[in-house]
Amino acid sequence: MLDEHGRVIGVAGVARDITERKRAEDALRASNARLQALAEELGMRAHARSAMNELSGVLGACATLEDGQAALVRHLAALFPEGSGCLYWCCGDGKEAASLVSWGAESGSASTMTFDQCLALRQGQPHHLRLGVSAPACAHLLRVPGGGAVCAPLNLGERLAGLLYWEGPHLPDTVDEALAIERDTAWRQWTCAVAEYLGLALSNLALRHTLQIQARHDPLTDLFNRRYMEEALERELRRADRSRRPMGVIMADLDHFKRYNDTLGHDAGDRLLVALAECLRAQVRAGDIVCRYGGEEFLIILPETSLDLVTQRAEELRETVARQLGSFGGDAVPPVTMSLGVALYPIHAGDAASLIRAADAAMYRAKRSGRNRVEIAETGESTPPPQNDSMSATSNSR
Ligand code: GH3
Ligand code: MG
Ligand code: MG
Repeated sequence: MLDEHGRVIGVAGVARDITERKRAEDALRASNARLQALAEELGMRAHARSAMNELSGVLGACATLEDGQAALVRHLAALFPEGSGCLYWCCGDGKEAASLVSWGAESGSASTMTFDQCLALRQGQPHHLRLGVSAPACAHLLRVPGGGAVCAPLNLGERLAGLLYWEGPHLPDTVDEALAIERDTAWRQWTCAVAEYLGLALSNLALRHTLQIQARHDPLTDLFNRRYMEEALERELRRADRSRRPMGVIMADLDHFKRYNDTLGHDAGDRLLVALAECLRAQVRAGDIVCRYGGEEFLIILPETSLDLVTQRAEELRETVARQLGSFGGDAVPPVTMSLGVALYPIHAGDAASLIRAADAAMYRAKRSGRNRVEIAETGESTPPPQNDSMSATSNSR
């Protein structure tokens, strides 16, 4: 037999040649398998990254932390095509976590845990179980994970919102060890990156929500502020047009509040405003909107009502305030009372600013008639005062 250069070779040489070729073929096969596994792995990571982009868009559009939580439940499995896992959310007094969603094969982690049972929750840092390396396992694990695993906490600034647990698949022995370790490392790092991102995204969401609430609420009474009132009035007017059902407003103003402040002090005045806000909030129907119009003036928007009903509500509010808060200032001041004006769209006015003016004018009629009473707007009371075309009511005409 001849070798590749035309030289004669013996039987031993032939055997060596076959062995080398076989070795080369095996190496090629192994290299192909590794390439294929790598391609699959990279495909999964690309898929996970695009799922992450999608989730990021959804979280950006969420209004509350609860919305964000619901989005995680829907999208999380797509972020982890490799292995299995579970998202926990902190509950109880903030020292427990319960499973919100799990994915992949049955999770090897309990569905609830206390912070004591998880090293990551205790330390506020990810806790890794590396493939083939023994490390202290968390007490919430029901079995030793077949692959690597990681517990990555979701840090929301000062507090923990939850925990992301990921567990690698149990790989057959035929899988290239170096590749298996590389995959395990990559997915554990991915889990930590996802947990870190989610912590930040959810913190932003919570902050956005708080800012939104603050922008709409009066800091002293926590009632809706005037800015929100203006938005709500326009919205409710359009709704009244569509439903062809009248909408009412009540303007309420504390009687002789300056005297109350002058006698008992500004802080005592603030306490009365807070108590009054609580009282008004407790009295109205769900759907009615109580706003602090300014100082000691409150505007209540009552969608889908009638003149009789809104007048009756105003009378009930007057009575309740006199009964519940009458003696709030003690003997040093006369009993606390309130004067109220009622106006109805579209009977008394055709737009938001005129409607407020009509209710305000009626309220001032109640003041002039002796206070602690309700007056109904009269046609023509919504005429704007000279040089005042804004929503501010008739402050310069009082
Ligand atoms: P009337 O019965 O005519 O409404 O008399 P009044 O004293 O209630 O009305 P006036 O407009 O003369 O005075 C309103 C007072 O409300 C003056 C102001 O210092 C006080 N006030 C406005 N906002 C606040 C607040 O946030 N806290 C406190 N404590 N007082 C406030
Ligand atoms: Mg007043
Ligand atoms: Mg006033």
